[in-house]
Order: sequence, then structure tokens, then C-alpha cells
Amino acid sequence: MTDLNNVIEELRESLIDILSRWVSIPSLKADPAPGAPYGLEVKRALEAALADAQKLGFDVRNIDGHAGDVRMGPLDKDPLGILVHLDVVPAGDGWQVDPFGAVLEGDRIYGRGTSDDKGPAVAALLAMYAVKQAGIPLSREVRLILGCDEETGMDDMKYYAAQGLMPRTGFSPDASFPVINTEKGMLQIQLRTPAASDGLPVKSIDVGQRTNVIPGMATALIHGDGLLCAKVNRLAGDMHLQVEAEMAGDSLVRLTSTGISGHAAYPESARNAIGQLLLMLRALGVAGVLKTLADCVGMEYDGSGLGVKCTDALSGPLTCNLGILRYDKDGCFATLDIRYPVLAYHERIVHSLRAALGEDIQVTVAAHKDPHHVPPNSPLVTALLDAYHEETGRDRECISTGGGTYARCLGEGVAFGSAFPEDEELAHQAGEYASIDGLMTNIRIFANAIMKLAGA
Ligand SMILES: [Zn+2]
Repeated sequence: MTDLNNVIEELRESLIDILSRWVSIPSLKADPAPGAPYGLEVKRALEAALADAQKLGFDVRNIDGHAGDVRMGPLDKDPLGILVHLDVVPAGDGWQVDPFGAVLEGDRIYGRGTSDDKGPAVAALLAMYAVKQAGIPLSREVRLILGCDEETGMDDMKYYAAQGLMPRTGFSPDASFPVINTEKGMLQIQLRTPAASDGLPVKSIDVGQRTNVIPGMATALIHGDGLLCAKVNRLAGDMHLQVEAEMAGDSLVRLTSTGISGHAAYPESARNAIGQLLLMLRALGVAGVLKTLADCVGMEYDGSGLGVKCTDALSGPLTCNLGILRYDKDGCFATLDIRYPVLAYHERIVHSLRAALGEDIQVTVAAHKDPHHVPPNSPLVTALLDAYHEETGRDRECISTGGGTYARCLGEGVAFGSAFPEDEELAHQAGEYASIDGLMTNIRIFANAIMKLAGA
């Protein structure tokens, strides 16, 4: 153990060096090219990572540009998978520093991908290296899998699994500690209907790009005059809604609803601007599908108005997000993103939706993912919690998420790290950074976990 800890203490400079170089590659998904199914920058990131791993003495493979792996121990003997990803989401606005500059400031290294998920990837790589350098014998293979398409559909892991390569068991440091052993099921629902012909004359609504995003802003154009504007502004005050009205040309009023954007899996910390807009439209006398959506969804995110509210002790409550709403004279299109508890049945949820929304609204399941759960007393979870507790002194605890990680690509997989419970949420945000001390602790935790799960 002393040897291992000494080896890890020496790795701080390597950590900063490797992570800086990986972060400087803007590995956003782009058009495919030969050997680069997710674009040339993602290919460059994968090749750089594999070259670094090879320099550290590991056996590496590039799986046709979809993913790579880094292996040690008795190869192909019931591998322990550690699943990370090298692709990143776009930098977006609001950065104080170059998002691909890997700027070092005190204990922090700033840049897109530093925490999601290149920092954890480097920590896992160096944990394997430390175990190897300390000469710890292994009874099974340890395999770091470097994914290239986590952010946009996980086609990388489908490809990797289709080659017959996916390990049976393992963990993914792409969320937070302690252990996330439950991921809710996910339903993406599309709603379609002809436009309403009576009630308030709504001209158009066009809100939202992605089903899994809670929109922070929503606008509608409705036919009306200055009196309508005044009415909206009065109602907004009475109903405590952040909706404003202004004239937008001859006899057209624009309603602007301001909420707080967020991720569909975590609605508690957001405020859906579409829901707020619908409540205002209903107060103004809207009919048809928009009234139904106001009645059945509105600003609720627990599914109660849709008859699908449920919860279980493993997973926590169902969540529901109205992410897209388009409406004009030709009809209405909307999407719901539902994250449901492990013990709920998705067929029953869809059945309840149809019953609540009525015959006029066509309900289609656009995507579905089953829930994922690993028992908290399994050897995998027990070993990971022990490693976490031993290295940090913190409580052993399993948690549930509405999000989805690579963990669900493994028969027995959990998310493990790399953020600590008190850390601020940085993934996909402007100003994303990783703490070097935090990553050093990650290395100690992962090395300990590797010894417990794969040590001879
Ligand atoms: Zn990630």
C-alpha cells in the first residue's frame, strides 16, 4: 500500500500534462470521415489518448474509431470495465477563459471536458498505471474503455458491444460519488394533433430544440390588441407567472415566458417556460390541444395531471418534461421526456398518457430505455463503496439518478465518481473545471477499487 501511495503521489505532473493535452483537442461530434465515425477531432482525441496509454506500457486497441481500450492483467479474463468518454459537448457562451485552453489556476484546470469526462478518464488511466507500477498482481483483466459518442447517443458502445467486446461488469466515472446503482427508465413521447379552431386565436408557438432540455424561454404570437397586452400583464401579476406581453405588429401580441432552463432528469432546480406559457394561454381562454396540455402538464413535472405520478424507494419519483412545443394553423407537435422509477411499467405509463390526453392527441413513443439497477449488496457495489470510504472517510451510500450513463451498457454496471457530493454541477456548463486535488483523490479511489475487484 505504501508503494502504491508513493507511486500515486508522483503522478500529479503527469495528470496535469496528459489532461491539458486531451482538453486542448475540441472533440465535438462532427461529420464522419474514413476511420472517424464521429469526426476528425474525436478521432484525434482517441489517437492521442491511446498513444499516451501505450507510452505508459499498456496494451491498446482502436476499435475502428468508435472507441478504444487500454488493457492490463490477464487479457480477456472476465475484464473489469472502466467506461469513460473522450467526446465533449460544444463550449457554448459565457466562458472567461479559452474553453479548449486547459488554463491552470491554482488547484483548478479549466476547459470543456475537464470534468466531463476527460479528467476522470485520465484519473482512471493513472490509477491503472499506479497499480501496475506498484507491482500488484491481478487475477483478471482491467480494461479502460475510451468511448467517443457518449454525449450524442452512445452509438460507440453499441458498436463496441456488437464486436463482442463489452465486459460483463464494471463502473463508469462519469457522474458522482458515492455509487449510482439505479438509473430510471426513459420514455420520449411525441404528441401530434390538428390545431384548435375555437377559443383564443393563437398564431404560432415554436419553443425548444431538444426533448431532454427544460426550456428557459418560450414565446407565442397571438392575435390581439393593447387591451390583451394589459390583460396578460395583469394576469401575470395575479398568477405569479413570469410572462410579459407586447405588441408585435398590427393586431399581434407576443407573449414571452421566462423560466429557468435545465436538464429533463433534474426538474427540481428548473422552471419550465412552456408550462408557464400554457398556464397563461389557458387563463386567456385557449381551447383544444393547448388547453389540454395546460390541464395535463402545465408546470407540473411529476406527471400527476397525466395520471402517471409514481415513485419507488429504489429510484425516487417519476419526472416529466415538456421540452418542445410547436403550434400553428396546421397543427401541434410537442414532446414529453419521462424518467420513470425502476418498478414502474412503461407500457402502463403510455396507456395512462393516452387516456389522460384523449383521442384527439396522437401519442407516439419516439424512444425508450429500460431502467437499470444493480443491487446495493452486490460484490461490485460493496467493493466500490469500501474503496470510496477507505480513501475519503465518507459514508457508503447508493443513489439513484434520472440521467443515463455508460453504466447501463454493462449487465452489471454502476456510475462511480468522479464528482464529490458537495461539488457544484459543472458538466455542460460555461466555466467547467476539474480540481487537481479532486482528481488525485479519484486516482487513489480507483486504484483501491481495482485492487479490491481485480487484485489476485
Ligand atoms: Zn459525461
